Amino acid sequence: MPASPERPPVCNYEDSDYQASFWEQGGREYEDRAEATALRRLLPATGDLMLELGAGAGRNTQRYAGFKRVVLLDYSRTQLEQAQARLGRSERFIYVAADVYRMPFNAGLFDGATMIRTLHHMVEPQLALRQVRRVLQPAGIFILEYANKQNLKAIARYLLGRQAWNPFQHTYVEFAALNFDFHPVAIREWLEQSGFQVQRQLTVSHFRIDWLKRLVPTGLLVGMDSLASLTGDWWQLSPSVFVRSQAIGQGPAQPKPASESEFFCCLACGHAPLTEGAGGLTCPACGQAWEYRDGIYDFR
Ligand SMILES: [Zn+2]
Repeated sequence: MPASPERPPVCNYEDSDYQASFWEQGGREYEDRAEATALRRLLPATGDLMLELGAGAGRNTQRYAGFKRVVLLDYSRTQLEQAQARLGRSERFIYVAADVYRMPFNAGLFDGATMIRTLHHMVEPQLALRQVRRVLQPAGIFILEYANKQNLKAIARYLLGRQAWNPFQHTYVEFAALNFDFHPVAIREWLEQSGFQVQRQLTVSHFRIDWLKRLVPTGLLVGMDSLASLTGDWWQLSPSVFVRSQAIGQGPAQPKPASESEFFCCLACGHAPLTEGAGGLTCPACGQAWEYRDGIYDFR
């Protein structure tokens, strides 16, 4: 479907070997462990229903152990197939191929959401954040990771004249097609405008420098990063920042349905619930149908 104001272009990881090439063979154990530390500090101890936005191959999913169920959402079906191979098919994990800008969930369904290394690909970040707020219940927790343009490397390059864009300006920078770095002030403003209250910020991956990662044992680097993270509420100069926010204001809080088919509403007309049938879900009001195949819902 062509992009429109309601359907901005999506960075699609279909058929990508990102999990293997970037994470497993790409020398990124340090970044992965630094993210795990940040999540341990920010995640609620327990919860009912977590929405993992841009779940990819499920690298982080098992870190949400305090939540009874997790919905993995990704635009790419093949990424979700990789996640399913890793996590298995059970009532605990629900796999949904959908667009973050148009999510097929009832308002107020989730009590937790995460979006890690995903906003990075969004040309309409404010639209995405409003959608996240819509599907969270009041007081729900949202953990957002974003790529920070105001990092030390970018500042040094800018001051030395090796980089044209200004890391101190609040506008975002698209350094490659559908790859964006954001300014911390802009992110906080957008979160507040979308109905969130920022609770805590952790700066992450301070030592994302190849020669340092080769020289220093990973465990030591992760420990140093973990300490440096704690200044995240005061200044943000690392390439990656985690923000924990809480949904404020009014809104529906859906009782958590026993059956996952009751999570969804119609993308065409808004009707809920959808009717379960052979091969998928159908809207009884307008007749629109969506496929469910091999444990993956497809709402694209
Ligand atoms: Zn409908």
